[in-house]
Amino acid sequence: MTGSKEKHTVLTSDGVQEYILERKRVKNINLRVRPDCTVWVSAPSRVPVSEIESFIRSRCRYIRRAAEYFRSRPQKARTELQCASGEKIKLLGTDIELKIVQDSSEYSERDGSRLYIHVRDRGNKERRKKLFSAWLDEVCTEIFTEIMHDVHERFSEYDLPFPQLKLRTMTSRWGSCHPSKGIITLNRRLIEAPRHCIEQVVTHEFCHFVHPDHSKDFYALLQHMYPEWRYSKAVLESSVIL
Ligand SMILES: [Zn+2]
Repeated sequence: MTGSKEKHTVLTSDGVQEYILERKRVKNINLRVRPDCTVWVSAPSRVPVSEIESFIRSRCRYIRRAAEYFRSRPQKARTELQCASGEKIKLLGTDIELKIVQDSSEYSERDGSRLYIHVRDRGNKERRKKLFSAWLDEVCTEIFTEIMHDVHERFSEYDLPFPQLKLRTMTSRWGSCHPSKGIITLNRRLIEAPRHCIEQVVTHEFCHFVHPDHSKDFYALLQHMYPEWRYSKAVLESSVIL
């Protein structure tokens, strides 16, 4: 015997909640929230709907939390870059198209919205990727350093030594800093975002040289140094998915 499946709604303290009820040979009422935020409930056929619904009401805080968690997760992991002709990457918020060129010498060169990767063996994906990431590191270093100089100037009254830049590819943060060692680590993927977004992250890290925590004073300083930080942060989070 297969269980039945029905869509229901119940009024909870969070509003109208839809759920899918499955009648199954189970012992208790079970509730789970799927990654698409739908709520699934399984219950034995003898349990009346009223009892199921009061169970759902008692779990509405959990449902809300789980749905928030699933909604905040990146929708889809990035597909792996192949470094093939025609593929597009983002650089400072604009599209750059990759072109692979068979050549006796190996280097990468950007011309407007195109990046030419010169490689001896066009079919060698690992080699293409290596050349691309070497180019990307150069660009990250150049642009991030430039931005760090601008921000450093804004902090002149604090007399901070110019920090050392480290690049990393991170999946959970945009940047970090080590105030006592004078190091700022930036996520390579920041380079995909518009420049003001990178400036916001760099300013945030510079503020940690003055206030290592996320105290009120820290945010007051950030607000003073970069009044539009909230906007830039929102743009960054919507344009680059880690
Ligand atoms: Zn911070």
